[in-house]
Amino acid sequence: MTITLFNTLTRKREIFVPLDKKEVRLYTCGPTVYNYAHLGNLRAYLFDDLLKRTLLFNKYNVKHVMNITDVGHLTSDADEGEDKMLKGAKREGKTVWEVAEFYIDAFNRDLFKLNILRPTILCRATDNITEQIELIKKLEKKGFTYVAGGNVYFNASKLSDYGRLAQLNLKAEKSTKARVEKDANKRNPHDFVLWFTKSKFQEQEMKWTSPWGEGYPGWHIECSAMSMKYLGEQFDIHCGGIDHIPVHHTNEIAQSEAATGKKPWVKYWLHNEFLVVGDNEKMTKSGDNFLTLSLIETKGYPALVYRYLCLGTHYRKPLMFSYEALDGARNSYRRLTDKILELKKEKTATKEEITKKEDKALTDKYLTVFTAQLNDDLNTPQALATMWEMLGDAKLSGKGKYKLLLQFDEVLGLGLKQVKEDKIPVEIIKLAEERELARKNKDWKKSDELREKIKLLGYVVGDTKEGYVVSKI
Ligand code: AMP
Ligand code: ZN
Repeated sequence: MTITLFNTLTRKREIFVPLDKKEVRLYTCGPTVYNYAHLGNLRAYLFDDLLKRTLLFNKYNVKHVMNITDVGHLTSDADEGEDKMLKGAKREGKTVWEVAEFYIDAFNRDLFKLNILRPTILCRATDNITEQIELIKKLEKKGFTYVAGGNVYFNASKLSDYGRLAQLNLKAEKSTKARVEKDANKRNPHDFVLWFTKSKFQEQEMKWTSPWGEGYPGWHIECSAMSMKYLGEQFDIHCGGIDHIPVHHTNEIAQSEAATGKKPWVKYWLHNEFLVVGDNEKMTKSGDNFLTLSLIETKGYPALVYRYLCLGTHYRKPLMFSYEALDGARNSYRRLTDKILELKKEKTATKEEITKKEDKALTDKYLTVFTAQLNDDLNTPQALATMWEMLGDAKLSGKGKYKLLLQFDEVLGLGLKQVKEDKIPVEIIKLAEERELARKNKDWKKSDELREKIKLLGYVVGDTKEGYVVSKI
């Protein structure tokens, strides 16, 4: 079955045709490890995972590379603001290297909890400095760079189609002076740093020898260097959040195509919309709307509930975060896990009047519909609706449903195969009942104490309209 994907490069849905029949080559921008990933970042990685699982479901082999940014990223994507890693180190009184290790571990835990398939290669920018230097040397040789104020810059004006991903209108910008550049060393507003030597951050601990002096790479060069190292000079798909379109991905394309002379560097560009909070505000690492996976877990929402929530909104639509929405996802997820346990228990394969032939025909129909919806630019809200319709279909046997549900879950990634009956110990139930009573009596202090006690024993208690729910941490 064909797969159709919305390509940011053309702003159109296109039929997916891989460059190489043997394997799809996929690169996704990973975390900057100066803090925990927030739920918005995790939406981006869940989207990458959904795309990858959809390709696998369609029997493609996938080579997936994800980077870890542990150097060079300033708080503004356009070489302004503080150095993110240094910011993390100051905040925590650690070295930048310790900060990176700590948050890489945390990131790996989040991937595991969310059932995100591990990338084939997860690579750190600081492990690939030589490759970045080599790429800058190549650009220098071809006349795409200049040195100013001690830094090496990419000269964006050397490319006639700079900004085509973002559909930047450079002429209009020139006439209106739309973009005000704060870095006086830049010859053109869209130029960007490839290598810093004169760091404005004197405390910078991460430094390497280079032909331009001791220093460190700018942010964008790592993704070009590492993706081409592992996936070749041209590859199939590149992903990231929509915030990467105007600067980071635009600059990645510029430097990669300038270096190799091959176009297009990447055939399909896919971008996920934001997770937003309150008044349509993007969730950010620096903002006070920063929510982590661990935080919602302690509030009684298992990690996979967040995965379910994300599946309910198409990746190209903003997802409004609220605890009410999370409650809804938790209820649906619980219904789903109850259903799989119930189906598993049904010993008899086919209920009396359903013949094997009828069952097969219906199973095939549901599988075709589900696959078509996913292959239609990853339409998960519709695919979820098909899943529920299938589960409620009285004409389909329990065995058929069980088999199909597990098949669907290869893409949904909700861990349904591993679902086990929650055997909550009696002592925990007792504590939860006690807490419920305290809440009824408006004894908030006692209720909070009991929640903490339950947590110490490895369980979380959350509240729904129907009463409390307890789950294992
Ligand atoms: P960062 O760690 O800041 O480099 O971001 C990692 C990924 O998360 C990138 O692909 C971003 O585009 C994406 N991202 C950042 N904020 C959000 C958000 N609020 N919603 C969805 N994706 C986001
Ligand atoms: Zn990147």
